[in-house]
Amino acid sequence: MANDDIPFAKPFTGTEEEDAVIRVLRSGWLTTGIEALNFEKEFAEFLKRPPLLKTGSLHCLAVNSATSGLHLALEACGIGPGDAVLVPSCTFTATAEVARYLGADPVFVDVSPGAFHIDPAALENTLLKLPSGKARAVIPVHYGGLPCDMEAIMDIARRYGLKVIEDAAHAFPSAIAGTTGDIGVFSFYATKTITTGEGGMIVCGDEAIARRIALMRIHGIDRTIWNRYSDARASWYYEVAEAGYKYNLPDLLAAIGRVQLARAWELLRMRETIAAAYDSAFCGNECLLLPPTGSDDARHLYPLRLNPLHLRISRDEFIQKLKEAGIGVSVHFIPLHTMPFYKNRYHLTEEDFPETMKSCRQEISLPIWPGMSNAQVDRVIETVLSISGNFTG
Ligand SMILES: *Cc1c(COP(=O)(O)O)cnc(C)c1O
Repeated sequence: MANDDIPFAKPFTGTEEEDAVIRVLRSGWLTTGIEALNFEKEFAEFLKRPPLLKTGSLHCLAVNSATSGLHLALEACGIGPGDAVLVPSCTFTATAEVARYLGADPVFVDVSPGAFHIDPAALENTLLKLPSGKARAVIPVHYGGLPCDMEAIMDIARRYGLKVIEDAAHAFPSAIAGTTGDIGVFSFYATKTITTGEGGMIVCGDEAIARRIALMRIHGIDRTIWNRYSDARASWYYEVAEAGYKYNLPDLLAAIGRVQLARAWELLRMRETIAAAYDSAFCGNECLLLPPTGSDDARHLYPLRLNPLHLRISRDEFIQKLKEAGIGVSVHFIPLHTMPFYKNRYHLTEEDFPETMKSCRQEISLPIWPGMSNAQVDRVIETVLSISGNFTG
């Protein structure tokens, strides 16, 4: 990478995150403890404060990744061998692989035409084709930070008796995403809207589910680590209630999360400014299709689509030209039903999900990280316009 290359993503961290890490290092307590507990409390408070103002009980459980969070969520909902978990094909493998962890099967669903989000009508059609009782849960993905049609999904879920686990990995902060279904899972992976390097947060309203998740998150030990060490009389004593997992978020990372959480709106404003610049530059250009958006869009991605009717260059060649110009981009996503594992195991063909193929085949995710300079945004715009101008036809 040359010096003036523009990366696809770059975490926005500063001296406050550095101070937080040093504070934890000097405290001598690196793993899960008071920082993780405070991160969970502050996360719940964040959801309850303006402008989100969420009401009711909100259990927030910090985990070491959103993947772990999705696994714990399915486990707490009692998903097991032979169950079907409905997921969009247009997502990262984490959304689907967690069903396999439990011996369940991911069943893919197409996206809405011209969109990247699970299509409620396709969801219902897929459900009608499954043996009755097989489908147990659906994982809608709030692609790019734009919430799915949760009203329609919740309606279908109620009628078919499905648990709704929201993959809100892209969607913090949001009024809708992550807190509408039974369980929501946010990601703090390095490229996501707020980051701890690796990490995630599970949010749910049901106390019994929260208790199950808390238990399975840390070896099935029925007391949290901080309790374990706070009771001086029996600091050595614990009981294993289940064969659990090791999915806790260490304090070293939770401390970074607390700083990032406090900046979440500021970071969103920066992404919105970049998206607005892209929108106004590309709007009306027949070669380029703007990302679907709406209110409550966390703007994690800027998924530009190329219009194949007006371009003499393939998406992959377009990406190569951007790379040669020093601009890092990505693709969200290579559809899961085309991946060797899912394709072979479930005998899927490309034609099974036509809208997913249409949306994903032409998609290029442009850089949209807080901290991009105006000059960098302008350079992305000029390069995209110049390549599409050169290959219009
Ligand atoms: C990043 C991502 C995940 C996984 O998040 P991790 O925190 O890295 O485990 C899950 N789903 C989607 C859609 C993602 O983009």
